[in-house]
Amino acid sequence: MIIRAKARKKVPPMSSALQDSFNHVRAQILGCTKLYQRESNDVALIAVSKTVSAKRVESLAKLGQIHFGENYAQEGVSKKNELAELTNQLGLIWHFIGPIQSNKTKIIAENFDWVHSVDRLKIAQRLGEQRGAHKSPLQVCIQVNLDDESSKSGVIPSKAIELALQIRNLPGINLRGLMAIPHPVDGLQAQIKSLKRAQELFAQVREELRKHDFDTLSMGMSADLEAAIACGATMVRIGTAIFGPRTTQTSTAKMLEQ
Ligand SMILES: *Cc1c(COP(=O)(O)O)cnc(C)c1O
Repeated sequence: MIIRAKARKKVPPMSSALQDSFNHVRAQILGCTKLYQRESNDVALIAVSKTVSAKRVESLAKLGQIHFGENYAQEGVSKKNELAELTNQLGLIWHFIGPIQSNKTKIIAENFDWVHSVDRLKIAQRLGEQRGAHKSPLQVCIQVNLDDESSKSGVIPSKAIELALQIRNLPGINLRGLMAIPHPVDGLQAQIKSLKRAQELFAQVREELRKHDFDTLSMGMSADLEAAIACGATMVRIGTAIFGPRTTQTSTAKMLEQ
């Protein structure tokens, strides 16, 4: 017993930096919900784990994090498979948040719980068809290209209602809300100005749909977390502020997708 205790003591506290940044982000979210008079459980934290090893995802899950977001289908699925037992034990929820190629819809539909980046009817149809009847519907958000940037995925705001009406009754999926990645701007006020447009669009689409569980506004990353909460985000997607800067593995992950 004594030997064991000693041995255990020597193990360095590997996840303490992770714990610190995780605590910091959670405190920041809590502070912002107070500041902007939101309910404290109104804003779910998605830890964006693209390029992050399964080991670190596991450490964060053991600290209490439930939602994880992945951008690359193959990378996300391998990680999820590696952590299958933990996923069952802790009820981890996996979100796909990256651009969707149509040849990836099957593995996305079969492996993720949520997809935030649906931006056309065809993708929504394929995801629903490929989900598998024995599974609960895939929870989906429509990604909106707020700034109409040609480099970005997402439906343009003026087409969001039309797309929402087209996919609201598709089998295999459940339309839950909107997702936005605004063009980065500096300063809280400028960010709020930008994200307000997502909030307004969300209200408009909800009004049109009259669907009680259309309740999700997915926006807010490490750099605009406060603005997102100010503008009604219900899911924030945070990578860097939790896991630290990403390394060049991103390009490896992209290559794996080819
Ligand atoms: C990478 C990514 C994030 C997280 O961004 P950070 O700046 O690292 O917090 C959120 N959403 C999407 C869609 C991403 O690709």
